[in-house]
Amino acid sequence: MHQFVDGRRLAGTSTSCFDVVNPATGEVVESLILAAPADVDAAVRAARAAFPAWSRATPAQRSRALARLAGILADGADELARLETSQTGKPIRLSTGFDLPGTVDNAEFFATGARHLQGMAAGEYSADHTSMVRREAVGVIGAITPWNYPLQMAGWKVFPAIAAGNTVVLKPAELTPLTALALAEACQEAGVPDGVVNVVTGTGPVAGEALITHPDVDMVSFTGSSTTGARVMELASTGVKRVQLELGGKAPFVVLDDADLAAAAHGAVAAALINTGQDCTAATRAYVARERYAEFVDAVAELMGRVRLGDPMDPGTDQGPLVSLAQRERVAGFVDRARAEGARVVIGGAVGGAALARGAYYEPTLITGADQHAEIVQQEVFGPVLVVLPFDGDDEGMTLANDVPFGLAASVWTTDVHRAMRAVRELRAGTVWVNDHIPIVSEMPHGGFKASGFGKDMSQYSLEEYTVVKHVMIDLTGAPRKEWHRTVVGFDETRA
Ligand code: NAD
Repeated sequence: MHQFVDGRRLAGTSTSCFDVVNPATGEVVESLILAAPADVDAAVRAARAAFPAWSRATPAQRSRALARLAGILADGADELARLETSQTGKPIRLSTGFDLPGTVDNAEFFATGARHLQGMAAGEYSADHTSMVRREAVGVIGAITPWNYPLQMAGWKVFPAIAAGNTVVLKPAELTPLTALALAEACQEAGVPDGVVNVVTGTGPVAGEALITHPDVDMVSFTGSSTTGARVMELASTGVKRVQLELGGKAPFVVLDDADLAAAAHGAVAAALINTGQDCTAATRAYVARERYAEFVDAVAELMGRVRLGDPMDPGTDQGPLVSLAQRERVAGFVDRARAEGARVVIGGAVGGAALARGAYYEPTLITGADQHAEIVQQEVFGPVLVVLPFDGDDEGMTLANDVPFGLAASVWTTDVHRAMRAVRELRAGTVWVNDHIPIVSEMPHGGFKASGFGKDMSQYSLEEYTVVKHVMIDLTGAPRKEWHRTVVGFDETRA
């Protein structure tokens, strides 16, 4: 498979290839052509040509196409889940139990969302005029997605964008483009017209930058790291393009002294290790009331010790490999530097043993004794690594939780509703959970505060991202001279 442009698979103009590798085995899953700027241009032209008709399709027509798409994705869920696991290494239990149902639900949600765009009531806000709001599609959306949830991230962009009448050129991460290509084909099968959804497989610096700077791209919707997000914003600024940025995270997990410790420990392990920790909302920093700190560390270490690493295609496997050997090196580097600075690795901190040596495995890792300002606490590791730090008093817990550049997600664990609600107010993050950490729903917005970006995925708020509001004002008088003209030229009848 190559690019998917204007309803067809295309080889493109480039001769440079990229191997999509199964990180569990090191075997090549598929070899793809990397898009050159000319290929991006072809995709953008297809999207531009498809825009007038698609943006004028009725909401009902777009809704039906998305509903058919949801059905096709549901029917193909098992195969798509295996494809997702083969390119990412994520456990098949996660692909079948989270990625696929989430994507299908999201498509179903935006099928209905297409028919429920919101705006102010039309009316006479000026006595002599009727005003109304039109909510219109933005145009051609350049979407760029990461490798951690390749299908879900593609869906989070494509579904609301096309529901609102836009057309899309999607550039998935070069490591994991296969399910995005499958999504584009499913769109075509669902009757989405040619050119409405296009996929270019290429690198960020070449295909990504060509897409952002293309003069016919009206908006850039990006999910990825905060560093790349800053570059995206800089490039988009030249054309004064709209940007939506879903960036990195470093979610705190705050355990107050009255928390249910068993629930918090189980919650921390699941939330830290989901997708092998390659989740922008994963629990990465547990702050625990000093009175309960030792108990929490012991409980988490015990649970982490029971996690089964193995073949991600085996339904019995809890944790697969990281997405690549390079990512494993990166994660190991963070842990090694933390250790060198005096932090204690309670469990893990090593690459997978003998039978896992071919893959990019890294053990679940629990770290204590790190300084709040250490790299391991402040920066995104994106691996199965949880750091635990103690605090004294709820206020200090909240202060430490907020003391990083990111603000994507956070959770608080307590049995006191008043303390929970105070924490909800204090935590500076786009999602705050109480006594849980990770669940998301299509109806609710997902997006960051601070360096985690701005704009929302999922929910009605996401549809708003992909629309522009136009004010239409209609004169009701038919008078050649309007009353307000007097503020500009004094219509003195005697001067006539
Ligand atoms: P990344 O920033 O390296 O890459 C993301 C995408 O950007 C890829 O498609 C890549 O090819 C492209 N890209 C890279 N350089 C580019 C450039 N100069 N111009 C244009 N495009 C460029 O991120 P990643 O390593 O693929 O993904 C992990 C990151 O994504 C983490 O930081 C994670 O927190 C973040 N993430 C955020 C969310 C969210 O909703 N906020 C969701 C998932 C992942």
